[in-house]
Amino acid sequence: MIGIEEVALRNRFRLYPTARFGQFKAHCPECQDKRRQFHLYVSAVKDTFYCHKCGAKGGVVAFHAWLTGIPFQMARNELYPASKRKFPRHPAEQLTREQLAEMGFTTRMPSPIAPKAFTQSEWSRYRRRTLDWIWREWCEYEKFRKEQDARLYRMICQGMASESAHPESLQEPVLREVPLPNGSAIHEDARADIA
Ligand SMILES: [Zn+2]
Repeated sequence: MIGIEEVALRNRFRLYPTARFGQFKAHCPECQDKRRQFHLYVSAVKDTFYCHKCGAKGGVVAFHAWLTGIPFQMARNELYPASKRKFPRHPAEQLTREQLAEMGFTTRMPSPIAPKAFTQSEWSRYRRRTLDWIWREWCEYEKFRKEQDARLYRMICQGMASESAHPESLQEPVLREVPLPNGSAIHEDARADIA
């Protein structure tokens, strides 16, 4: 975890100590405090900031976002790069809502935090199994779709090949044009099918 003091330091934002341990005051950049005006208070104990004038407040990530003017998500990624995250993401978690809906999954992904009725380890096991299952389903679905595409492609190719081999069959698909096989041959074939 990164402390709020460290965020101030990174942004070259000056904190002034107060009489209380771990409590700092600062010039609010929003309110353009000058000299002895200190509307902004920063707590290194609670890792929070609060401006008594404009009401800006929040935690470590919000402080970084506020000082740099970048969105919250981006500030979080800057402070905690994805590669250094403690828990690597399951591949199933990378699927978009649309991809999930395509397979017929409409429920939400299970949250990493256990609901009250479960212990964290019970929940983690359950979550892992669910994500594994979703991922297996997705791989199956992808495979099926690729096979369907390949089949369709083959059918189109075959269709095109037969069309180019017999271009006249497209123009005149009339039965009388087709030479009929003799009756006995048909008879024999039909009996062979039944037997
Ligand atoms: Zn302010």
